[in-house]
Amino acid sequence: MATLGIPQNTIDILQKYQFHFQKKYGQNFLIDTHVLEKIIESAGITKDDFVLEIGPGIGTMTQYLCENARQVMAVEIDQNLIPILQETLSAYDNVTIVNEDILKLDIAKVAEEYNEGKPIKVVANLPYYITTPIIMGLFESHVPLKSVTVMVQKEVADRMQSEPGTKAYGALSLAVQYYADAEVVANVPPNCFMPRPNVGSAVIRLTCHEQKPVSVKDEKFMFRVIRASFNQRRKTLQNGLGNDAGLPVTKEEAAAALGKMGLSPTIRGERLSLQEFAQLSDLLQ
Ligand code: SAM
Repeated sequence: MATLGIPQNTIDILQKYQFHFQKKYGQNFLIDTHVLEKIIESAGITKDDFVLEIGPGIGTMTQYLCENARQVMAVEIDQNLIPILQETLSAYDNVTIVNEDILKLDIAKVAEEYNEGKPIKVVANLPYYITTPIIMGLFESHVPLKSVTVMVQKEVADRMQSEPGTKAYGALSLAVQYYADAEVVANVPPNCFMPRPNVGSAVIRLTCHEQKPVSVKDEKFMFRVIRASFNQRRKTLQNGLGNDAGLPVTKEEAAAALGKMGLSPTIRGERLSLQEFAQLSDLLQ
């Protein structure tokens, strides 16, 4: 099968199957071989790896993954793409195509069955409408993960990498920091996709920590505190935490905990580091 990273080959297969792009599924297919090679290289795929690909589309990146990995599972929600994938990946016997919504798949079970429960690599040109639920789902459901190398909106890549005190800093930055080291490995302009997205994109590699960078009594509770702190960004932290219906904390308790940490009760959540959120969470519990 011809390389789909070459635009004419993508056009030919789309025409053959009379495929219509579905906006609701965030379908922007890659048509740039340099970007594809860069993703595979950054993910460090070897013949030892089991790779989960989220949203293979017509199989453009899947072809590269099959060439480089031991085993690939490609999970695609759009059933109209399945016959196309069966054709474009017919040369490979190391790929499993699954027609499923990634948010409904038990990925920990997949890792168990296909990789003896050992950490897996995830590679994807993500559908942008569900980037955060996919990333958070992978982390919070404790799937054994080695790395997650994904194309995301440039603005989301910035959020994942940002430091306290910056505008982009928020719950996503803290979650990514808690679970992984993040590095943007490429910036990708709209003309590398068909159809072109309205936003710039970036490939980010999240290398998962073997040991968490902070210790906290209850990580679920810490993330509730973090979410409450950023839900009302413009409020002071004591008000944000005290007013959050889902968090059993009063304004006074929040102020007392901040006081113990030597912080002002009027501080805003965006000023606190991951280390400080861990400490605050332990004090509030
Ligand atoms: N990997 C292909 C490429 O790079 O050319 C396609 C990437 S496209 C940005 C996103 C893909 O994810 C589409 O094929 C879309 O149908 C699929 N998708 C969207 N939502 C999904 C979901 N919930 N579960 C699985 N796949 C999904």
